[in-house]
Amino acid sequence: METRETKPVILLFTFPLQGHLNPMFQLADIFFNRGFSIIVIHTEFNSPNSSKFPHFTFVSIPDGLSEPESCLDVIEFIHVLNSKCVAPFGDCLKKLLSQEPTAACVIVDAHWYFTDGLTEKFGIPRIVLRTVNLSAFVAFSKFHVLREKGYLALQESKADSPVPELPYLRMKDLPWFQTEEPRSGDKLQRGTMKSLKSSSGIIFNAIQDLEPDQLDQSLKEFPVPFFCIGPFHRYISASSTSLLTQDMTCLSWLDKQEPNSVIYVSLGSIVSIDESEFLEIAWGLRNSNQPFLWVVRPGSVHGKELTEILPKGFMEGLQGRGKIVKWAPQPEILAHRATGGFLTHCGWNSTLEAICEAIPLICKPSFGDQRVNARYISDVWKIGLHLENKIERLEIENAVRTLMTSSEGEEIRKRILLMKETAEQCLKLPGSSFRNLEKLIAYILSF
Ligand code: UDP
Repeated sequence: METRETKPVILLFTFPLQGHLNPMFQLADIFFNRGFSIIVIHTEFNSPNSSKFPHFTFVSIPDGLSEPESCLDVIEFIHVLNSKCVAPFGDCLKKLLSQEPTAACVIVDAHWYFTDGLTEKFGIPRIVLRTVNLSAFVAFSKFHVLREKGYLALQESKADSPVPELPYLRMKDLPWFQTEEPRSGDKLQRGTMKSLKSSSGIIFNAIQDLEPDQLDQSLKEFPVPFFCIGPFHRYISASSTSLLTQDMTCLSWLDKQEPNSVIYVSLGSIVSIDESEFLEIAWGLRNSNQPFLWVVRPGSVHGKELTEILPKGFMEGLQGRGKIVKWAPQPEILAHRATGGFLTHCGWNSTLEAICEAIPLICKPSFGDQRVNARYISDVWKIGLHLENKIERLEIENAVRTLMTSSEGEEIRKRILLMKETAEQCLKLPGSSFRNLEKLIAYILSF
């Protein structure tokens, strides 16, 4: 039997949002496969399913989140959790470090901006996982300048003007937050920047060959090592960390469709839209005549249930050409031979998952890094189309047809295939992600 070389313990502190749990668990599996023992520290809210990861030790901390607090806008939610977890995380860390005095380091999600003081107090190195790509990271790191210059209070007349400090981006692409209180976004950025700059290093689920200039620019501003080791999910086939139940009937439905024929539609785990936007997307998909698989998360259409919104007979009229589910096994869908396009909100996990399967994109970003990603997808990497205007059915219909059936769509498909190949090369010797992971492991072992 092969014996596993045992390296020290790594503690990971997960942030309880889907787009943060997924990459953190993938990272944990990467380290486990390289011989480290893993202790996952998590909140009670959105706690991960430990039975799917029997090889990890799980430690839950009481977050004290009330029911109304769990429904706050994302930025307020992050602040509330940061203030409520100071004492429980401190107690937990103290206890774990007395049991595991040789633990190598703590890896925290960048949203846990309060942790810098605590890890310093206990004398344990803290590495931060930043779940955005480098282009969005650069945009976020300039947040204070953008605010000072007044760019973040977007004026309609300047929406398409270029941002002098950020090549490629227009004013409307800046990482704007969906929050009732705009200053909350500033507070989050200040906290995150301070915590990143005082960390022992930053890990990115990104590929430096795709964003070399942004890496150089960031390294000039940040006095800590960077480790771009993405795409995480390609190292191993990790278990799912889905918080919602995945509807597996999607896969048997896809089995019945023609190769590259289905447009997959999902706006991720946080974005919500209003009823009129929902209906425009529905009619646009239907009028495109292309088969579609659409994830409509419960609560993702403001104030209404799906059955209340769709006109009577809408689904029947499709004669099996469309399927709507509450949550899907997204990686399997993107890998399915029938999937030919992805209408996405451009969250970085979804974007990277699509790149790794060479699935061309239609971008419908909402807030934060999604807008930066959408601009890169459409104008820099040219691997997708961008829905820039108010959502209208004709725009959706045209975008789907262009992506799935035109020569322009074919060119986009060829470019994303090249990007997929770059991503694959990066993971193999002498690729950048491969080398960066080796450096990261050596770095952690040197603590
Ligand atoms: N996802 C999923 N099933 C769905 C929709 C999304 O498993 O029906 C996963 C998707 O694969 C991705 C994550 O949820 O890993 C969403 O992360 P992303 O960064 O794209 O967006 P966020 O939800 O953070 O806005």
